[in-house]
Amino acid sequence: MQTPLKIAVVGSGLVGSLLAIYLKRQGHTVHVFDRSPDIRNIQFSGRSINLAMSTRGWKAVDEVGIGDEIRSIAIAMDKRAIHVSDALKFQQYGKEGESIYSISRGTLNRKMIDLAEAAGAEFFFEQRIWDVSLATATLHIGETERGEWTDLKYDMVFGADGAFSRIRHRMQRQSMFNYSQEFLNTGYKELNIPANADGTHKLDKNSFHIWPRGEYMLIALPNLDGSFTCTLFMPFEGENSFASLTDRKLVEDFFAKNFPDSIDVIPKLAEDFFKNPTSTLVTMKCYPWTFEDKVALIGDACHAIVPFYGQGMNAGFEDITVLNECIEKFGDDWTTIFAEYQKSRKPNADAIAELSWRNFMEMSSSVADEKFLLQKKIEKRFSEKYPDKWLPLYSRVTFSHRPYSEALAIGDKQKAIMDQVMQLDGIENKWDSEEVERKIFEYLS
Ligand SMILES: Cc1cc2nc3c(=O)[nH]c(=O)nc-3n(C[C@H](O)[C@H](O)[C@H](O)COP(=O)(O)OP(=O)(O)OC[C@H]3O[C@@H](n4cnc5c(N)ncnc54)[C@H](O)[C@@H]3O)c2cc1C
Repeated sequence: MQTPLKIAVVGSGLVGSLLAIYLKRQGHTVHVFDRSPDIRNIQFSGRSINLAMSTRGWKAVDEVGIGDEIRSIAIAMDKRAIHVSDALKFQQYGKEGESIYSISRGTLNRKMIDLAEAAGAEFFFEQRIWDVSLATATLHIGETERGEWTDLKYDMVFGADGAFSRIRHRMQRQSMFNYSQEFLNTGYKELNIPANADGTHKLDKNSFHIWPRGEYMLIALPNLDGSFTCTLFMPFEGENSFASLTDRKLVEDFFAKNFPDSIDVIPKLAEDFFKNPTSTLVTMKCYPWTFEDKVALIGDACHAIVPFYGQGMNAGFEDITVLNECIEKFGDDWTTIFAEYQKSRKPNADAIAELSWRNFMEMSSSVADEKFLLQKKIEKRFSEKYPDKWLPLYSRVTFSHRPYSEALAIGDKQKAIMDQVMQLDGIENKWDSEEVERKIFEYLS
């Protein structure tokens, strides 16, 4: 345990509430502030946005003994179900027994706040933080930006207030603070596949469903109540774009033409399409993430990434794992804890940002490509036979604790090797031959 401090966490999202549990375990007084109402008192709109949780996320929740509670609200997805124009193909994600897990964001967030409260953290909802005085760890709270503010002084402040963090906003105004933000031209919209009348799922429940169509794609993740949450990713402008789908008929015709097998399972397609917002996707990078031993950023507040690797929350949870390792190592020396935390995490946050950005192409185009599927089969066969020689990139990111930066570097080398393998004459017929194996060994050395 550390010497007890009075710590404020700004943001009761997934990262803020898990961090509160960790800080309570170290014996601190923890106050969590959120501008939104208590999510536990809000009726979900019937839609339930969901996330894929994988190995890095599980480690962070298991470490504080709440993993099993969260497993009880998760659905294992061990494969991709790829809906190509006239067929459904399945592609295993990892080895036998390896899965990613679909969890409702709302249900998870509610549970984490309950668990953090049970651990002794205090939550203050509908409290908007407008600013922070970095040198004194003082929060400035008020109803409006230009109205009266109350000042609350702490020993330390964590900014877990998401991609558009106010805590970061203050840090940005210092010299030598680097910051970049880039929006994708692709946005997203949530749609819904309801359950069958008997509560069962309309599609295979243990799959991550993808309709890859190049510049745009539809995905669907299962929910516990038998429904699926779908997300349509599509450019804002252009031929096949949100801007081009301006009325009910255009939307229905677009889906009938491009996602024919989705038509029967999304009954309120046009209604949801026009009711639900079109949201943006942003990559945000910054550095440093900490100020002396007073203020630190964590989660999306310091590294917002596009969602195509399903790693945003997982990376935020891994921030907490690493911060906790630094706490265990350096005791009460918060200056060193913060310095080591940001040094360790920054290259990995940059790497997962890059991998996530690249994965849009893989998900939206390559998974529908025969050559790509063959390449995956070759990699899978080789890695199952020689696990110490080859861990596929997806597995290194999703099912391991190896640094993201290592995954990016090794992934690039593996890609160069597989590009050569795929050039071999008649690879389609000899993909599982000793010759191909020998070639991979040759390229590896
Ligand atoms: C479409 C989509 C799909 C995704 N899918 C996945 C996935 O499959 N797997 C995965 O790991 N990640 C996924 N992510 C990423 C994941 O949602 C984020 O990484 C994660 O929610 C970040 O958590 P956070 O707690 O850091 O921030 P947030 O969840 O953004 O929480 C921030 C909190 O701070 C509060 N707040 C903000 N400003 C203030 C203020 N001024 N004062 C007080 N409170 C404030 C907000 O109300 C909010 O509660 C996805 C993201 C998107 C957009």
